[in-house]
Amino acid sequence: MRERLMHVETCTTCGVKLVERGYTRFPCPICGEGIGRCVLCRKQANPYVCPSCGFGGP
Ligand SMILES: [Zn+2]
Ligand SMILES: [Zn+2]
Repeated sequence: MRERLMHVETCTTCGVKLVERGYTRFPCPICGEGIGRCVLCRKQANPYVCPSCGFGGP
């Protein structure tokens, strides 16, 4: 599961590269797939959808 997290290099919501400080990576609560969130999407609370199982969250 940790390895799946490590390869997440882009924001799951908007696709921007996770290079700026403040981004976050976390495993999908359902399937454990890595999900990335950039600073902007975190600030705006943009919803994400897991690319693996389709689970969505704020
Ligand atoms: Zn984003
Ligand atoms: Zn998932």
